[in-house]
Amino acid sequence: MTAASATFAPGPEGPGADATASDTPDDFTRWETQIARTGYCIRPVRLHGRIDAIDLETGEIRPMYSTDGEPGGVLLTPCGNRRETVCPPCSDVYKRDARQLVKTGLAGGKGIPETIIEHPCVFTTLTAPSFGPVHSRRKRGKTILPCRPRRDAKQRRCPHGRDISCAIRHHENDPRLGRPLCPDCYDYDAAVLFNACAGELWRRFTINLPRRLAALTGVTQKWLHEHVAARYVKVAEYQARGVVHYHAVIRLDARGENYQPPPHGYTADLLCEAIRQAAAAVRLVLGPDADRPDMPALALGFGAQTDPRPIRHHNTTGQQLTVQAVANYIAKYATKTLTVPGLPDHRLRDALDTEHLTCSQHYRQMIIIAWRLGRPGACGEQLRKWAHMLGFGGHFLTKSHRYSVTFGQLRKARTEHRRAQHHPDGETDPWDRPLDDTVVLILTTWTVTGIGYRTKAEADLAMAAAARAREHDEWPTQAA
Ligand SMILES: [Zn+2]
Ligand SMILES: [Zn+2]
Ligand SMILES: [Zn+2]
Repeated sequence: MTAASATFAPGPEGPGADATASDTPDDFTRWETQIARTGYCIRPVRLHGRIDAIDLETGEIRPMYSTDGEPGGVLLTPCGNRRETVCPPCSDVYKRDARQLVKTGLAGGKGIPETIIEHPCVFTTLTAPSFGPVHSRRKRGKTILPCRPRRDAKQRRCPHGRDISCAIRHHENDPRLGRPLCPDCYDYDAAVLFNACAGELWRRFTINLPRRLAALTGVTQKWLHEHVAARYVKVAEYQARGVVHYHAVIRLDARGENYQPPPHGYTADLLCEAIRQAAAAVRLVLGPDADRPDMPALALGFGAQTDPRPIRHHNTTGQQLTVQAVANYIAKYATKTLTVPGLPDHRLRDALDTEHLTCSQHYRQMIIIAWRLGRPGACGEQLRKWAHMLGFGGHFLTKSHRYSVTFGQLRKARTEHRRAQHHPDGETDPWDRPLDDTVVLILTTWTVTGIGYRTKAEADLAMAAAARAREHDEWPTQAA
């Protein structure tokens, strides 16, 4: 860690004893302040350590901060987990950062010029193709349509003799949604392999897109590469059928660092057309070969429903995508992971683990297939690692270079803001001089003593403090 860690120091409160051991009201208040500073993280990291300053001229060492002065001798810092199911307050901070990151790429701010608003920008979804009929909620306008009506008796039977029609207008929360009408007809291998290869398919799409832009505007790929940059941010979302798809914001800039508009003629409509063509052209052919007889030969690609739509900055028709809506949408999926009862939240260790799954039969089958395709020595070796994620091992939010700000920049800005609040007249070193890293060297030593609260009683107290803060509408306040 760097000197920035000093901002966690409570400063004026002074030294104290273990809050839970000696319950003096003062210690308790200080402990409460500490957990408030973690943004009421439910499993804070407990740190032990110190910060010292060394005068570069004289070599003198003076202490700046030590956890010895904290309640219990530890400093609590937020766990920073982005999953809603693991730590809601930290996930909330991540979600807000994701929203900022998407928004600054659309409307500017945080060092990105506001003129970015004029650049052609498109919201698109890249889905998976069909792996067999599943129960689905189809809509026309606001009307929910029957799931899979088939009048002809012949069309209603699959080769396994099962009825593969469904006249139900499924409710939003119907647990049948996404499940195959005939599990034997459903191509589980392909569904799992699509998840496993989704990242590679996206990568190929991003290579293909500039080629399409060049072809559509009659320039060489070299010219396009020198003048136009397609920048993006994307999130992965699981559909009910357990297959991921991507939502992406794609923007055209001039090549270079200054967020300049692309050359004349590179419009949002042109970008939509290039996206459609690039998505349709992506192919990834797998196996079979002698080394991996278990792997089916198959060509993977994206589904047909790409639906690219220009993002407008003024909502004129009510039908258009606005900056705020897109930012909220992406932020929502950045923290939402598949929350299905029984789906394991960590990696499987052995085949036995697949026998104790309590999720739906459909997800269970995907996990079993991922485990099988990932047997040692097979090309899908990584699949075992991600079996609990139905084969998908990619990141939930990724962005291209220079889409906008980074998560690191947003965190740094927050830390600096907090330092400025704590030290309105500027931070000073132990010699009472303005803190200057050309004058002193800051040395930090931290060890993690544990994660989460030490006792149930302590956790209960922390939750009670969080609840009180929520009542006063200060939650979550300032998690790092
Ligand atoms: Zn947390
Ligand atoms: Zn149905
Ligand atoms: Zn069938």
